[in-house]
Amino acid sequence: MARMHKSLYNVGALLKGLATTFGFMFVRRPTIEYPSVKKQHAPRFHGLHELRRYADAKERCIGCELCAVACPANAITVIGAENTPQDRRSPGERYAARYEIDELRCIFCGMCEEACPTDAIVLTPRFEMAGLRRGAFVYAKDRLLVPPTEGVGTAPDERPNGIPSDLGRVAEIKSTTDVQTGYDATNRGTILKKQRKGLAG
Ligand code: SF4
Ligand code: SF4
Repeated sequence: MARMHKSLYNVGALLKGLATTFGFMFVRRPTIEYPSVKKQHAPRFHGLHELRRYADAKERCIGCELCAVACPANAITVIGAENTPQDRRSPGERYAARYEIDELRCIFCGMCEEACPTDAIVLTPRFEMAGLRRGAFVYAKDRLLVPPTEGVGTAPDERPNGIPSDLGRVAEIKSTTDVQTGYDATNRGTILKKQRKGLAG
């Protein structure tokens, strides 16, 4: 008798479990098919950095080091160098000969973006980063600077010793504000999307 009672109890528990499973079949899933599906970030989401150029392909960064001074995590290293008539990288006197951000130290506060007088450094909606060594997370200029063909904004007048005059204007078009296109709003996001589709050259 006791054995039969136990069997009935087990069948009841089994049915109860199946009812729970069955019930969840009609509930909307909270999970998404990442990485092929991604959620839209908040408009002011702070992700990985990007160093931008002007539309004429000159680098926006003038090597002033204000971002490094403003960074509370001491994650930025900038070493400036003088532009020369033969090798002019930016519209200002100087450009960043070396620019590095330790993304593991970074707390994605956006202070560097706020401090930059030329809107050179921006935080994009991208957050994906992976690596096997700590050094892989120190993003150097070759990973941060967008290609010459992907410049954003209008080049300022060429002024010896001058600083670009379009301060603040590019905030309207900076990548982190484009909620409609999300990841596509950044150059690297476009590259990653093409890579997923096998279109990248
Ligand atoms: S987002 Fe903040 S912590 Fe990260 S590099 Fe910029 S200033 Fe430093
Ligand atoms: S990113 Fe901006 S703040 Fe930082 S060194 Fe370049 S110009 Fe200066």
